[in-house]
Parts: sequence; C-alpha cells; structure tokens
Amino acid sequence: MKSVVVVFLLTLYLQAFDYHLVAQKLSGNVYCFFGKTENITKQNGGNIVNTCFIKTKEGFVVIDSGPTYNYASQAYKQMQKIAKLPVKYVIITHDHDDHWQGNSFYKSKGALLIGPRTYEQNVIAGMQTRMERILGKELYGKTKIVKLDTVVDDNVSITIGNEKFEIKQLVPIAHTKGDLIVYLAHAKVLFAGDLVFNDRLTSLRDGSILGSLEALKKIDAYHAKVIVGGHGRKTDANATIALKTYLSQMKKEILEAQDNDIGMEEINKQVTMPNFAKFKLYNVLHKRNVLDAYRELEMMEDDE
Ligand SMILES: [Zn+2]
Repeated sequence: MKSVVVVFLLTLYLQAFDYHLVAQKLSGNVYCFFGKTENITKQNGGNIVNTCFIKTKEGFVVIDSGPTYNYASQAYKQMQKIAKLPVKYVIITHDHDDHWQGNSFYKSKGALLIGPRTYEQNVIAGMQTRMERILGKELYGKTKIVKLDTVVDDNVSITIGNEKFEIKQLVPIAHTKGDLIVYLAHAKVLFAGDLVFNDRLTSLRDGSILGSLEALKKIDAYHAKVIVGGHGRKTDANATIALKTYLSQMKKEILEAQDNDIGMEEINKQVTMPNFAKFKLYNVLHKRNVLDAYRELEMMEDDE
C-alpha cells in the first residue's frame, strides 16, 4: 500500500505543468495559441504570450516559441495532431523572454532558429532570466538558452513548402531594439510580435514611444487581413488601433505638459489617461510608461 502511495505522489510530482494549449485557426494554414493578458506568475507558467505556427507542405514554421521548454513541447504535441510534420524554423520576434524560451525544445527537434541581434546578449550573458526567477526551478524545467542559427539585422526571406516568409525589422527601436515582423504576403497575415498589443497595456521599458508609433504606421501600410500581436486576442485589420490610440494620446498629453513646464515629478498626476484604466496591467505599467515617454520626448525637444 505504502509503495502505491509513493508511486502516486511521484507521478504527481513528475507531471509537468499543463498549459492547456488550444490552437486557434486564424486563416488557411495559420494557427495561434493565445496567452493570458496578465503578468508572469507561477499559476500561469509564464503563458502570457501569443505564439503561432504555420503548416507548410514540408513542415511547420513557428513564430515565437513561448515561455518554457515545457510550453514548446506541449505546443508541438498540438501541432502533431494537425499534421505529422517536423518544425523547420522558429522565428523569434524580439528579445523579451516570454517569447523565446521554448527555443531549446525546438532546437532539440532539429529546427533552425532565426531572430534579432539583441537576442544574442542572452547567450553571451548566460544570466538567470526573469522567467526562471519568477517560475522557479521546477516550472522552468529543461529550459535552456540556445544560440540562434540566423541573426536578422534588416530583413531576410525564407521559402518553405511554397510559403514565403518575409522577416523584417521595420524601425531600429520600437518595443525593443531590432523587433522583427513576419509577413505572409499571399495570405496577408502579419505577425507583429510586441509591436501590437491589445486588451492589455504595453511596456516602453526597452523601447521608444516614437519608434513604436512609426512601426504601427508601417504595419498599417501592409493592409494585412490578419494582424497577430504578441499579446491580446484581437487579430483583424484593426488590431493596431488600441496601442496606436494609447501611444498617440500619451505623446500629445506629455508634449502639452512639457510646453506648460510640467516636470517629471508632476507628470504622473497629469497624464493619467483614465480612458485606458480598463486595460489589463494599467496599474502596473502606465506610470512607468509615462516616465519613459517623458524622458524620450524631452530629449527630442532638446534636439530641436
Ligand atoms: Zn511580450
């Protein structure tokens, strides 16, 4: 009896965190997993992110590999239910660690990894990631930082199974330095990474308000039918509106405040933007975003 209990407890312990991933079909051969619009916690296992995969005749192409090795292995299981095909490429949109920590899983399956140059700093530093710190050893599991096979500084196209993937840096700095988008021209599907957010607020901590607005303008110019952001479930042609409105209103209000000589210590009393208070993570991110934008816009004013 005792040994039965031990085996039972051991099975429970060894059972991996279940992400309950359900692939949503967005267009012919394009599928995505939508993460929660919240911060990373042990309860969500870091699944706060959207990741996608495209089925081609020769294999899958994955856009962003998600928060952990375990997440990627569960995503892979779902893909294999759709078709028994290998994952040929994994394209990473930007350097934030909720988007790429499934890389070591796909690498172990023989996929080639493509991403921005800023990702390489993680390989060099080999430091504990934010994800590892919050999730702890057990949930982080077999996750490792692995090198990219191809670094994209400007743009690269890959063709596989008659599908052409255009990978492009739209502006030097927007959400992060070197954000990449992936565009499928014939299907008019654009994977925007964190250049597009909806349902929740973005973070400007590693980016630029002006670069973000510029990138959103360039995304709109594609006139894509489907636009998938890194966070949030809205994926139609209007997916960019929420973030565009948030950032342009912030820019306008901060510039006005600066014209009225309102200093940095007063700015959060002024630019509260209550019309965005209903967005998730407003309480966590808004004040910091205003400060980051204030600094950037002040520098721009000084240059003039
Ligand atoms: Zn993100």
